[in-house]
Amino acid sequence: MTATDPRVLGIGADVRRPDSVTDELLQRLVSRVRGSGSTWELTEVYTGETLVELPQSTPADIEAAFAEARAAQELWARWPVAKRVEVFKRAHTLLVDNALKVADLIQVESGKNRRMAIEETCDPPMVMSYYIRRAEKLLKPKKHAGPVPVVSGATEVRVPKGVVGIIAPWNFPFATGLSDAIPALIAGNAVVVKPDNKTALSPLFGISLLEEAGLPKGLFQVVCGEGPDVGPTLIDNADYVMFTGSTATGRVIGERAGRNLIGACLELGGKNPMIVLDDVPVEEWVESASFGVFGNTGQICMHIERIYLPESRYDELKAAFVERAANLKIGAAYDFGPEIGSLVSPDHCERVAAHVEDAVAKGATVLTGGRARPDIGPAFFEPTVLEGVTTDMVCGVTETFGPVVALHRYRTVDEAIKLANDTEYGLNASVWSGDIARAEAVAARIESGNVNINDALATAYASKGSPSGGVKQSGVGARHGDQGLLKYTDAKNVAVLKKQVMGARPGQDYGAYVDQMLKSLKLMRKLGR
Ligand code: NAD
Repeated sequence: MTATDPRVLGIGADVRRPDSVTDELLQRLVSRVRGSGSTWELTEVYTGETLVELPQSTPADIEAAFAEARAAQELWARWPVAKRVEVFKRAHTLLVDNALKVADLIQVESGKNRRMAIEETCDPPMVMSYYIRRAEKLLKPKKHAGPVPVVSGATEVRVPKGVVGIIAPWNFPFATGLSDAIPALIAGNAVVVKPDNKTALSPLFGISLLEEAGLPKGLFQVVCGEGPDVGPTLIDNADYVMFTGSTATGRVIGERAGRNLIGACLELGGKNPMIVLDDVPVEEWVESASFGVFGNTGQICMHIERIYLPESRYDELKAAFVERAANLKIGAAYDFGPEIGSLVSPDHCERVAAHVEDAVAKGATVLTGGRARPDIGPAFFEPTVLEGVTTDMVCGVTETFGPVVALHRYRTVDEAIKLANDTEYGLNASVWSGDIARAEAVAARIESGNVNINDALATAYASKGSPSGGVKQSGVGARHGDQGLLKYTDAKNVAVLKKQVMGARPGQDYGAYVDQMLKSLKLMRKLGR
């Protein structure tokens, strides 16, 4: 591939920042950050040019953000759920109407291709739709039977946690900055979010749209800074922490939340496998697998880094996949042309290159790609397919988080499942077959929080009614589904006894009371209580 290659659709040196991303907009957005410390230079990924100086939050700023959020939350929690939901109905419309502008911001700060950026804008509205439908039912007090029928009962009341701290990564800044906040807010909480410094613009814009839709001012705060500087004060002030990022950081966050005895949901990394069965329809598989590996330039937590192909069809499937990877359209462009964009930063590009160099030095073969492309932009890396990757190579066991995949062959399905499960991670997996029942049988044996059948990742992530989280070292807890909202609440158990019938009656022989109690236990079982 060269810059004059028809597969290269635009180079950083030629692109012009989108018209919507004006200096005035950038200043307005960063002025919303509660930050009186130093500033951080936020750059446009395709060009490396400075966009704006991002204020950094001191511990005092973070404490002030929590104090203001807490005051706003007290009033917000008194709003009826239906009234809170109304805000999100209006916000849904505003987010969809502003999707192209949001995509501009996502692109300038992350360097991802526009096709992916516009898909990212759809995530918060999809999450809103689900909770707009479900919230009133989920948050309504629920009656439960008490220990003695008729005269006793208990009510489960859902109480918001208070102020939720959200720490978000750079790979889907708009989605992780907003989507996890939506159920927290609907449940009656306030939110203090810490986006990654590199990608604070799109969540800041999203929050301004929520306020335009009627979200009370002060309820959704933004603090910025390097994780280790901001993290401790944020966690120490929060009533619950929602973290998305690497497994290493997740461990630090989880430890601190544990010490403070607050709940935490940790959505972490993966080394996601795809098992292709021998009856796979090749054309459908190639297209989906290519997106599953290279979508968002491989910077999707659920993207595929290991593909297991059956021995009987290895050569055919490998040839088809490598050809598709080698022909992906790559480029720096604010239009829908490129199928693959930039990595987020030159640092990350170096990390991806180091994984490939290590694999090659230890005997892996590059089937296509394998090189950084500074001629396209400061952080571009070619779609790369490797063969002969082993577990003594860094990329054989550790998440690369770039456009790099290893092809492996297997002889039996049992062997493929064993290899797929041979990892400390368990975030996502994919199984491909012409026979869904066959694929489901394999899916049942894979140790993973998400499994996609005949898709790589999007079907599971976009099914907002079903909880999505990681097992093993890929996380604790889940987002989406009913638990994605209920985790932001405490269950208060309010019990009523209408008549004093519990315990022995005054003067009753205690042995007779015990006899009666044990009999009633059996009777209750018979009655199914
Ligand atoms: P990261 O862990 O380095 O950073 C994530 C966030 O945590 C950033 O905002 C960062 O500033 C902050 N942070 C870093 N150190 C911190 C500390 N000590 N205390 C508090 N906050 C701290 O991860 P990253 O490189 O930004 O993101 C990529 C990783 O995120 C990948 O491993 C990817 O798989 C994972 N990820 C997981 C999911 C999921 O849903 N499971 C989704 C997206 C990304």
